[in-house]
Amino acid sequence: MSDFDELYQEIILDHYRRPRGAARLDEVPEGEIHENPTCGDSLKLKVEFGPDGRIARVLHESRGCAISVASASMLTGAVAGLVPAEALSLAGEVEAALRGEGDDPRGFLEGNGELAALAGVAAFPARVKCASLAWRALESALAPPPGTDRGS
Ligand code: ZN
Repeated sequence: MSDFDELYQEIILDHYRRPRGAARLDEVPEGEIHENPTCGDSLKLKVEFGPDGRIARVLHESRGCAISVASASMLTGAVAGLVPAEALSLAGEVEAALRGEGDDPRGFLEGNGELAALAGVAAFPARVKCASLAWRALESALAPPPGTDRGS
């Protein structure tokens, strides 16, 4: 294992032990729980907006493996201050990079702060769903239901 990988492992464990944005979200209905049955991860997520329409903060209630919890924790920092369209586009790029798609998936994650710690995940297909769970939950929280147009 390289020094870089050890550093990434440390970052992931730190987020797992002290997840940013962790909260009890009893108000989120059971039907909106996102699950990754292959690993047993589950997650509720809530987006709060500021008066300017930007994402003020993201809260999540995560149960699962270190990768899924750490990814949700990193997400909260990565999308704070973005408008929904920017956050959606980031989520799409992160998911693609986790799957190892694109010109330089590793470079993309490594250029995005602590998300760099997820760069090794693409090598482990079983872990990709763990790392993607929070980002998919964010997309479903932000994406307008079909047939509606709320501008943006
Ligand atoms: Zn998992």
